[in-house]
Amino acid sequence: MTDPHTGGVVQIGTGCLGSCGYCVTRLARGPLKSFSADAIVAEVERLAALGAYEIQLTGQDVSAWGMDIGRTLPICWSGLPMRRGGISVSASA
Ligand code: SF4
Repeated sequence: MTDPHTGGVVQIGTGCLGSCGYCVTRLARGPLKSFSADAIVAEVERLAALGAYEIQLTGQDVSAWGMDIGRTLPICWSGLPMRRGGISVSASA
């Protein structure tokens, strides 16, 4: 989390599904372990309740979120509070 008054960072998982030869992330973090959508939404809701309006979802392999638990990022995305207005949620590694 960065500044709860303006923005925050929510980690959505650890590790990755890749095996890129130049990268030690897979060795350091292990295979993809996606956090549950409920936990992610709850953390976004918590930050939003603190006044955060710019929230970034992050992890080592954001685009692969959910592939290890049979979910997809749009499913998680649909539960986020940004549709209530005033909150910007983005994702990046
Ligand atoms: S973190 Fe990215 S660059 Fe590194 S092994 Fe995974 S997919 Fe490849």
